[in-house]
Amino acid sequence: MIDKLDKETLEAWLDNVSSYAEDGRVADYIPALSKRDPNELAASIYYLDGDCVKAGKVDCCFTLQSISKVLSLALALIDNGEDYVFDRVGMEPTGDPFHSIYRLEQHRPSKPLNPMINAGALAVSDMIRGGSIEEKVGRLLSFLHELTDDHTIQVNEGVADSEYETAFLNRSLLYYLKQHGVIAGDVEETLKVYTHQCSIDVNVQSLSKIGAVFANEGRDLNSGRQIIPKHLARICKTFMVTCGMYDASGSFAIKVGLPAKSGVSGGVMASLNGFGGIAVYGPALDDKGNSVVGLKLLEVLSNRYDLSIF
Ligand code: GLU
Repeated sequence: MIDKLDKETLEAWLDNVSSYAEDGRVADYIPALSKRDPNELAASIYYLDGDCVKAGKVDCCFTLQSISKVLSLALALIDNGEDYVFDRVGMEPTGDPFHSIYRLEQHRPSKPLNPMINAGALAVSDMIRGGSIEEKVGRLLSFLHELTDDHTIQVNEGVADSEYETAFLNRSLLYYLKQHGVIAGDVEETLKVYTHQCSIDVNVQSLSKIGAVFANEGRDLNSGRQIIPKHLARICKTFMVTCGMYDASGSFAIKVGLPAKSGVSGGVMASLNGFGGIAVYGPALDDKGNSVVGLKLLEVLSNRYDLSIF
């Protein structure tokens, strides 16, 4: 049993690591993200008994970006089953940057190596059931509402537009995947679904609650209802360990040792079975795309409270 932190303690830890924000840079390849304040920091721990401890700018909203890849994967697995999904997307980490294109050419038949890199996540977005972009995005939003019990969660349309208009690399990946029969749908429609899922706005409390549902083996914390089947929640957490922190997943496993997923908005979601979910927001990123404050806070918490799963 790991001791619970109180608010003052979490505030103190966040304060201790806040100066690391100076070592990173806010993402600017999506214009809307470049406007964020690198010193706007927040953290939340959601325990399995429903207690939530928060610190910093807790009301600040930020977009999920790549953290959404875990949720779209869970939904695509629920919709289609493992065989369908893993016929089209692999299970192996890459060690390459998240938007890398070159490995697609090295495998025949072409297949993205895993669902946490952009090529794989784009293929997964194509698998979400629905007759229109609106229906697919709506189903993802409903899934998030169910996981967080926060029905106000919405897409940040400004970020979605900014991302869609500048998604030249993601468009290239999609056209390549379409050419090779990996995606069934229309390229622009799939890109809309993907850019909308990445632009869903959350705060640290909601994000830590999602981590807690994964830590609770996919069950709702109050009712115990299975939102994500246990074996699918386990698959998602395994991907978080092997490729959730971009091409720094190996060093993160050694230094922190938690299933986690980060996004270029500066959010990080971690999940520890039997404990709960942890979310950190700090928009300054290192050169791999991970939040520098997020990495540091998770590292100190993991060391201090012995959270590593290894
Ligand atoms: N929407 C972003 C992109 O596709 C997500 C990247 C990320 O958070 O890693 O470039």
